[in-house]
Amino acid sequence: MCGIVGAIAERNVSGILLEGLKRLEYRGYDSAGIAMLNGSRDKLTDLKTVGKVKKLVTSASKAKIRGNLGIAHTRWATHGKPTVANAHPHSSSKEIAIVHNGIIENYQELREKLLKDGYVFKTETDSETIAHLIHKERKGGKVSLIDAAKKAITKLDGAYGLCVMDKTEPDQIVVARSGSPLVIGVGIGENFVASDPLALGQVTDRFIYLEEGDVAKVSLGDIEIWHGNRKINRPITTVESRSKDAEKGEYKHFMLKEIHEQPQVIKDTLDGRISKTKVLEQAFGVKAREIFDKVKTVQIVACGTSFHAGQVAKYWLETIAKIPCSADIASDYRYREIIVQPGTLFVTISQSGETADTLAALRYAKKKKYVASLAICNVATSTLVRESDFCILTMAGQEIGVASTKAFTTQLALLLILSIVLARRTGLKATQEAKLVKDLSKLPKLIDKALRLSKDIKRISKQFSDKYHSLFLGRGIQYPVAKEGALKLKEISYIHAEAYPAGELKHGPLALVDSKMPVIAVAPNNDLLGKLRANLSEVSARGGMLYVFADESIKFESDKSCKVVNVPISPEVLAPIVFTIPLQYCRIMLP
Ligand code: GLU
Repeated sequence: MCGIVGAIAERNVSGILLEGLKRLEYRGYDSAGIAMLNGSRDKLTDLKTVGKVKKLVTSASKAKIRGNLGIAHTRWATHGKPTVANAHPHSSSKEIAIVHNGIIENYQELREKLLKDGYVFKTETDSETIAHLIHKERKGGKVSLIDAAKKAITKLDGAYGLCVMDKTEPDQIVVARSGSPLVIGVGIGENFVASDPLALGQVTDRFIYLEEGDVAKVSLGDIEIWHGNRKINRPITTVESRSKDAEKGEYKHFMLKEIHEQPQVIKDTLDGRISKTKVLEQAFGVKAREIFDKVKTVQIVACGTSFHAGQVAKYWLETIAKIPCSADIASDYRYREIIVQPGTLFVTISQSGETADTLAALRYAKKKKYVASLAICNVATSTLVRESDFCILTMAGQEIGVASTKAFTTQLALLLILSIVLARRTGLKATQEAKLVKDLSKLPKLIDKALRLSKDIKRISKQFSDKYHSLFLGRGIQYPVAKEGALKLKEISYIHAEAYPAGELKHGPLALVDSKMPVIAVAPNNDLLGKLRANLSEVSARGGMLYVFADESIKFESDKSCKVVNVPISPEVLAPIVFTIPLQYCRIMLP
């Protein structure tokens, strides 16, 4: 999801809003807009452009748009094409203007009712309904803006970060959040709002982070927040201005810092993409629904770490969505004769979106009869995103560490979401989806717990320091996780690391196992556990030293030849993501 900025001050705030939008450009968008007001006698002025914020800045300067109250937006179209008309802000009766990040799922139903009430819709968006709904709830001015907004949001299903201003109450901005982030930037005699504090770094370093379900009235010198019927206080946090992506902060190196960012970036990646009970599939863009309806199989193509994410997704797609899936290495796929089954969705995964082999594979795939190409990528402006039919962005922020960490786990989060939206079409029940989404929403907390294993890992990793080779074992969906562990150990520590599906051990590699060859195994609590245990005893019998990352519920015992690290209990579907975390630590603690 893209960006929101708002400001109320005694000075002109147009520059602050436009600068804020520029700072949010990294999140990707297709159009931008601004609405302003200069006191109650002023009329609501808005300006919108398709394309870059730069264009909006030029138009704003030509139009000399000014005001002491304003809201601005960068849009990533989910309902209705990226056009000037569909760009936000949206208004109602020339009085109310809103900007919205997110997806309103019941907008059709609301729209029909509002049409009957005589409201005229000028856009194809879901968001415009919010403007009219609030206008309606104001009952011709009898109800205050804040009360009307509070009432209106009770009627919304879906996700929203919302910012509202009203010509008849020009001393305030009303904001609300549910499923999409919003912060209030606290100034002196002026206040701001944004979807990300980064947007306001030029005006304040003090922020109030709104919680899910909060509604707030932001005025010049006052901020009032409600949660349900209760008026509440939220703490003000001082945030040092970011470009924090480019600084190591308290961490020894970028990789460690990025490992620790995972709870937050996973949260950012899930924001606006799931509601309490479902995946908001329009988060994949306006064309997504029609495309997904045609999908019968999935072809994933990627390189390196992203390929491992694709291999995990193969299991999810086949078990959750019951859809056949192939995951291929881009450098192999691009040079091969490809047979495409009818109804195949082509999916690329790349952190940068500039990986040459993946791009070449996409171009090759375009000559074949795929349903469409979907990019899962971290960089909105990348070639991969531009050349694909549609995309969904990981919100991992800049990844500076050479070894990918947060890009991998955010890719996995989105691939799980993709599996769920496709599964809906193959019989996944609403209750099953609700359970999966509930599990997903716990992911940031689970990762946070897994990050606390660093001390245990440090202790055992010392025993590795004189080793030259290692073996990583996993079964089923954990095999690509083991491969990812081995890949990073090679990259970071120059220790030879090989990953094997644990069941393959007896077909050769067991011969290599002895006391000089540490064996690292991932052991989630699933129905392959018994088989994995058998594989591990083969290792012990050979005198190999075992390091087992085991789900806490298994109660795996440490002994002389087996060191166990207990991984927090997680829902089975999330285990590949949770077990990735301790393996990331292994990599960095080795010499
Ligand atoms: N769903 C809204 C739209 O399509 C807002 C999308 C966004 O978050 O920018 O306009």
